Amino acid sequence: MPEGHTIHRLAADLEKDLSNGPVTALSPQGRFSDGASLIDGTHMLRSEAWGKHLFCWWENGHILHIHLGLIGKFRKFDLHHQPSETVRLRLETASVAWQLTGPQTCSVIDEDEWAYRISKLGPDPLRLGKRGGKEFCENILSTSIPLGAALLNQQFIAGIGNVYRSEILFLNGIRPDVSGKELTLKQAEEIWDTTVMLLRKGKAWNRIVTITPEDHGSRVTKKALDENALYVYKRGGLSCRRCSGFITQSTSAGRSIWYCPSCQKGTNA
Ligand SMILES: [Zn+2]
Repeated sequence: MPEGHTIHRLAADLEKDLSNGPVTALSPQGRFSDGASLIDGTHMLRSEAWGKHLFCWWENGHILHIHLGLIGKFRKFDLHHQPSETVRLRLETASVAWQLTGPQTCSVIDEDEWAYRISKLGPDPLRLGKRGGKEFCENILSTSIPLGAALLNQQFIAGIGNVYRSEILFLNGIRPDVSGKELTLKQAEEIWDTTVMLLRKGKAWNRIVTITPEDHGSRVTKKALDENALYVYKRGGLSCRRCSGFITQSTSAGRSIWYCPSCQKGTNA
């Protein structure tokens, strides 16, 4: 599933490509023909991300709301690329076409609905940076939900997915089964700060790279090889990059999670 950094990057790319003139909107698949007709031929004013939600604002007051979910993709194509029948929405200008396939959500909403949607989301590290830390700490320090699950819960923090939750907890040395209530304020602040730093890098590089230069053995670039980019995600049974132990795979909130049993501690350890 795309995480917040991908959606923020997507929002910026869409605004750059589509806000310079009228946009033709159509649904080659047919499932979104009514929605596409509401924005067809109008100008897109701006595009923004809130966590994993994408909102595109149009000059006629409509707002396009997209959530990619697990398999959705929103990709840029040459104008001459012919859409397949799986394309839910195609947005086209005089020079470029963007095509959406397999989204979890694709709808046209109004401002009240937009306000309702974002009211359900916790702070977004990429929107708020450092100043979102206070709200995050209040949210996380009051919950008895294990951190592995809480970090995926978009009401606590918006934009974290399965890769980042494992990596954030490793970098902070905390096990996924520790609850928010068991953290100190300092630990919660450090989790937020780590998340801001990682997502900013993820957005800039358009991929997730969490390894530090110290553990990498040299400067880390966005071209870091896949097998060297992360600490724990999908590394079950492999050697920890920081100790002589091995990475363990477990389950949290119904999805796999990975951690190092010796680098990451419970609160009483
Ligand atoms: Zn370790």
